[in-house]
Amino acid sequence: MKKRLTIVVSVYNEEDVLEQFYREAVDILERVSWNWELIFVNDGSTDASRKILDIFADQDEHIKLINFSRNFGHEAAMIAGIDYSAGEGIICMDADMQHPLECIPDIVEKLEEGYEVINMVRVSNQSSGVIKNITSTMFYKVINALSNVEFEGNASDFFAIGPKAAEVLKKNYREKNRFLRGYVQNIGFHKTILKYDAHARAAGKSKYSIRKLFQLSVNTIICFSDLPLKLGIITGIIVALSGIVLLMYTLVTRKGAPSGYTTIVVALCFMFALLFIVIGIIGEYIAILFAELKDRPIYLIENTKNIKMDGIKRENS
Ligand code: UDP
Ligand code: MG
Repeated sequence: MKKRLTIVVSVYNEEDVLEQFYREAVDILERVSWNWELIFVNDGSTDASRKILDIFADQDEHIKLINFSRNFGHEAAMIAGIDYSAGEGIICMDADMQHPLECIPDIVEKLEEGYEVINMVRVSNQSSGVIKNITSTMFYKVINALSNVEFEGNASDFFAIGPKAAEVLKKNYREKNRFLRGYVQNIGFHKTILKYDAHARAAGKSKYSIRKLFQLSVNTIICFSDLPLKLGIITGIIVALSGIVLLMYTLVTRKGAPSGYTTIVVALCFMFALLFIVIGIIGEYIAILFAELKDRPIYLIENTKNIKMDGIKRENS
C-alpha cells in the first residue's frame, strides 16, 4: 500500500500567498509517489485566509482544514497539524513560500530511506534582514552554551518527521511553552539534514515581531536550560568575594575604602540591579511553571474540514 505524506502548514493572515502556495504545492505533491494530505491550520486569521482555505477544502478532499478559535501562535498550529495528521511522514512548513516546495521530493526520498527526523537547514537567507540573521546566529550560540542539548544553528521550523517521531510529539513534549524545532532535534532517532535556500517571502509581511522573537528566545532558553537559575549563586559568590577583598584592603592599608556619596550610590545601584535581574530570571521560570500548572490547552479548535476524527488523537494538553 502506498504510504501517505502529510504537509502541515500554519496560516496566520496569509491571504496574499495562499493561492500560490496551494497551486505550487499540489503541483509538486501530484508528482510524489506517496499519497498525500495537506493540512492547513488557520491560526485565527482575521483576513480572508479562512474563506480561501474553505474553498480549497470544499473542492479538494486532500486539503484538510483546522480552524483555531483564536490566534494561538505558530508552534501551537504546528502541534495541532501533527496531532491531526494521518501520514507516515509529516512535513511542517510555512505558508509564505520561504520554505521551498521543491524540497519535498528529496524529503520523501529520505523518509523512504527510513529517517525519522529530517532537519532542513538554511544555507542562505535572502528573506530576513541582517539583524534577524545576526540575532538568530547569536541565539543559537547562547542556547548551545547554556544547555547540554546540541542545537543545529540555522535550523528552521521547516522539518520532516517519520511515524516514530510523530508519535513522540503527539504523546510527549506537550509543554505549554514549546520550541518544536528544538524537540525535533533532541528526541534522537535516525536523523539527517537537508540544506535549502530560503526564498524571500512571496507576499505579506513577517508575523514575528522582534518582541515576539525575543520572547520566544527567552522561553526557549528557560525550557532547555536551568543555568540562569544558578546565576543568583554565582552573583552572590562574586559579590561576597569583592566584599572580602575590600575588607582586606581596608584593614591592610588602614586608609579605609574610597569615601564619598557617589561610591556608595554607585555600589548600591549596582547591587540592586544584580538582585533584581536575578529575581527577574526566577520570575521567568515561575511564569513557565505557572503556565504548566494551569494546564490550559495548547490550542482550541473551532471547526475542521475533511478531517475524519476516528483514531486521531484529540486531547490537546
Ligand atoms: N504564523 C502562525 N501564527 C502566528 C504567526 C505566524 O501560524 O501567530 C505562521 C505564518 O502564517 C507563517 C509561519 O507561521 O506561515 C511563519 O511566520 P512568518 O513568515 O511570519 O515568520 P518568519 O518567516 O518571518 O520567521
Ligand atoms: Mg516566513
